[in-house]
Amino acid sequence: MTPQVLHKLQQLQQQRTEPFCAYVYDLTALRQHTQAMRRALPPGCELFYAAKANPEAAILRTLSADVDGFEAASGGELNWLRQQVADKPLIFGGPGKLESELAQAIEQGVEVLHVESLTELNRLQAVARRSGQPVAVLLRMNIALEGIGGTRLMMGGKPTPFGLDEQELPAALRAIAASPHIRLRGFHFHLMSHQLDVDNHLALIRLYLDKVHDWCQRWQLTIDLINVGGGIGINYQQPECHFDWSQFCQRLPDITQRSQAHGWTLRFECGRFMTAACGYYVMEVLDVKKNLGEWFAIGRGGTHHFRTPAAQSHNHPFSVLRRAQNEPWLRDQPVTLVGQLCTPKDVLARQQPVAALAPGDWLVFSLAGAYAWNISHQNFLMHSPPEVFWLDDDAASA
Ligand SMILES: *Cc1c(COP(=O)(O)O)cnc(C)c1O
Repeated sequence: MTPQVLHKLQQLQQQRTEPFCAYVYDLTALRQHTQAMRRALPPGCELFYAAKANPEAAILRTLSADVDGFEAASGGELNWLRQQVADKPLIFGGPGKLESELAQAIEQGVEVLHVESLTELNRLQAVARRSGQPVAVLLRMNIALEGIGGTRLMMGGKPTPFGLDEQELPAALRAIAASPHIRLRGFHFHLMSHQLDVDNHLALIRLYLDKVHDWCQRWQLTIDLINVGGGIGINYQQPECHFDWSQFCQRLPDITQRSQAHGWTLRFECGRFMTAACGYYVMEVLDVKKNLGEWFAIGRGGTHHFRTPAAQSHNHPFSVLRRAQNEPWLRDQPVTLVGQLCTPKDVLARQQPVAALAPGDWLVFSLAGAYAWNISHQNFLMHSPPEVFWLDDDAASA
């Protein structure tokens, strides 16, 4: 927890008498983190933000000063990004795009569109012809991994709904060559999420470049852009061991020297790694009870606000903010932290050691800034939504 967040929560805890439940975002920390990420990248690289990780307006606007652009994965995200960060380059990816979304993307002037299949390429041809406007594309490819280690969440390297099979590439290139409105700028890869290993990620990007090099030679392609996806990982179980971005960037010039020699820009489109650490989900403990020999703490809220632990099947890291003069109901016990939902799946952390706890104390879940509120089934049980606090040292008039 940053000192700013701790200070704010301590203040709130003194003021509040009703059970508390909130998201707290540290935008100063987000800005510092993004700037450090940006600074570490060698020349020849771009940093985009994948909005689906957390599309809150304040997050997008805070990021917009330090990223090169944003990735949208639906027509809804495109519209939203156009409103929130109007002057930034947008890219449009994702499976199952509607014709209406393709038309919208062209009309809204997306910088480059990521094509996921031959069907989509055909639809885009028709839409682009009707619009009469040129559209730049990257072909999203799924490729075999050839010995490179995987992660907990594979988007490719095995059969998935994402991207084109290499065998379809000749047909895709023929279709593009026959489309006066479609211009191939390069290729897109996003094969893994939750990457924690620098060596693996460097090997993966090297493999992408080898592939692209082969394709360019074989088909006489002139391209200028390779999107190497996101997938940079957060280590929820050992938060001191997230992906080592600075080490990764130090070793990246090995790769970028090669891509720059070909005239290729490397574009990253990160989500989780950018916003996870700036968000906190806070629940006030409503009840502490022992049931068939195990301790449970029931907090205000639950996985309908914060589905991340359920989605990841992990025990989410947390700390306890005790209320002053609150007599503990338990000491040094393993406790399962749950929410208010009538389902045994509403668990945020299971059997975690807790030094002292009582109703009125607050549970502060860290790393709750990505794939958290926006992936949760918010209407289940019709509980009220959490409050939201935005902390920002730089906001003069906040
Ligand atoms: C979700 C997604 C990302 C972001 O992934 P993270 O693991 O959050 O970095 C990037 N690119 C594509 C195509 C995605 O679907």
